[in-house]
Amino acid sequence: MCAARILYGKPVQEAILEEVRQGVEELAAAGLRAPKLAALLVGDDPASAIYVRSKTRMCSETGLDSEAFQLPSSTSTEELLKRIDELNHDAGVDGILVQLPLPEGLDTDVVLDAVDPAKDVDGIHPENVGLIVQGRPRFVTCTPGGIIELLERNEIEIHGKNAVIIGRSEIVGKPMAMLLMHRHATVTICHSRTQDLPGVARAADILIVAIGRDAMVTPEFVKPGACVIDVGINRVADRQRVEEIFGADADWQKFEDRGYLVVGDVHPAVAEVAGAFTPVPGGVGPLTIGMLLANTLRSARRRLGVGS
Ligand code: NDP
Repeated sequence: MCAARILYGKPVQEAILEEVRQGVEELAAAGLRAPKLAALLVGDDPASAIYVRSKTRMCSETGLDSEAFQLPSSTSTEELLKRIDELNHDAGVDGILVQLPLPEGLDTDVVLDAVDPAKDVDGIHPENVGLIVQGRPRFVTCTPGGIIELLERNEIEIHGKNAVIIGRSEIVGKPMAMLLMHRHATVTICHSRTQDLPGVARAADILIVAIGRDAMVTPEFVKPGACVIDVGINRVADRQRVEEIFGADADWQKFEDRGYLVVGDVHPAVAEVAGAFTPVPGGVGPLTIGMLLANTLRSARRRLGVGS
């Protein structure tokens, strides 16, 4: 029996996109152009291509312009920097997205640092990260920003609560910690060297898990009634592992159709202990795209002189 509240991402994403649509309409009513996102995809990673397609499709459904630039995997760092420089100087472009991961041989830090911080709608440029640390964000990093929206719009109290984050990446764990701290949570960040991880995690009222290991967080990590946010997206193609995780509840039809199942970092049995949790898929995933579009609107408003 599952008593926990399931926090779905879709309704929150829809609410964010509706606000973006309204913002785009306001620009149009003022005689201003639509916001524009430029997406750079290097190489032929199928998952990255799917992500870029869904981002540009979501843009057109929300009234934003977008353009995807597909570059071959042989692209050098210098060539990519040149393309970024062109987009930095293109007055019609408000947001620049470099789809990660980049192919081996490209210097990701150098590439991301080259994006104009005023167009860094992923919120990962060091200047934007610095502003997040100082509590005056220009663009909130998309996934952690989406998680804050999910918590706040579901009226999950953050103020004064113990928040534990497992994972210290630049795109999830670190900015997540800052956003929660600025909302007055007491924050602990864990990683691969943390001692007694289940014990530390059990102190959490809000447990955020961004590790990249299927079903690693089991009920022993979770205080009864805690809110558990599962960021992980893992493809499990091993039949025995699917059996271990899902037992009799495994969706074998989906497994046979696709050759894998998408599994979070949190074990399904956590639903029996948690007070609220996000499903995978369908939890955090949709929020990341919602925040990307919200950031692109924000950038356009600033650049068109109608927003701060
Ligand atoms: P990274 O690989 O950059 O970071 C993983 C973090 O987990 C590291 O800090 C690492 O610690 C920690 N970790 C790894 N193994 C353990 C362990 N056994 N015990 C404790 N900590 C551990 O991952 P990301 O943050 O980029 O992504 C995490 C997951 O979230 C992935 O599955 C990714 O696909 C997913 N994701 C989903 C998004 C969405 O929109 N839903 C967006 C972004 C990511 P250390 O630093 O010590 O190595």
